[in-house]
Amino acid sequence: MYKVVIITGGSRGIGAATSTLLASKGYSVCVNYLSNHERAQQVVDDIIDAGGEAFPYQADVANETQVKAMFEAVQQRYGTVTHLVNNAGILFTQSKLCDIDLERFQTVMNTNVMSCFLCCKAFIRQEGAKSAIVNVSSAASRLGAPFEYIDYAASKGAMDSITKGLSLELAEQGIRVNGVRPGCIYTEMHADGGEPDRVARLAPSLPLQRGGTPEEVAESIAWLLSDEASYVTGTFIELAGGR
Ligand code: NAP
Repeated sequence: MYKVVIITGGSRGIGAATSTLLASKGYSVCVNYLSNHERAQQVVDDIIDAGGEAFPYQADVANETQVKAMFEAVQQRYGTVTHLVNNAGILFTQSKLCDIDLERFQTVMNTNVMSCFLCCKAFIRQEGAKSAIVNVSSAASRLGAPFEYIDYAASKGAMDSITKGLSLELAEQGIRVNGVRPGCIYTEMHADGGEPDRVARLAPSLPLQRGGTPEEVAESIAWLLSDEASYVTGTFIELAGGR
């Protein structure tokens, strides 16, 4: 069966590793990105060089019009989108809650939660057979991210609720919805929080004594999307080194 996947924020970090892995497993991949075209094109070039199928697509996934246009573009190119990875996410400078302003909180919720809602909706409303969704949450939804980004943690908590509720709404249709909760993963996101070396600082305090790689997260996402996980829905894989 043909497999078509959209990976939001597929151009860097966890999304890029997931794009590459899924392409190697035979998926036709839409590598979504917000602004950095070069990085998206690089991921796509590497996939095509390896014999896979992919194309880059610029869209702000917090914008409904752009999300609809993205799904239409993918459908025209490959057919029905059979799998979806809601991976795009942002955070801002480490701060206490009392120093987070309303605009920042709304921006984080819009990018991290509304994108998940809008992409899930566009995915479900398509004609044709659909298989599975994976939402990229965070260990922050359990831990709360105090003194860092409670806004971000709250957005991931909301994603977890969407994952659970939607898995139950879609179970009868045979569409599975699961989540992954990464912990400290070596990506550029930590620079946005104001501490590029955050993972290295925290690594010794983690039970497994190290940070994780984007490729390790990608493996779990790929498994949850795959037929090997055919009886798994409404659940979460913790990728936080034991924390
Ligand atoms: P990253 O390296 O900062 O990459 C973020 C990706 O999201 C980029 O491809 C970026 O595109 C894209 N993006 C951001 N806003 C977007 C928007 N509005 N529309 C479309 N694309 C958008 O992030 P990462 O560390 O790989 O994180 C990926 C996911 O894992 C996020 O949901 C994050 O919350 C979650 N996570 C990460 C960690 C960690 O330790 N890294 C831990 C737990 C959870 P551009 O390049 O064009 O900006």
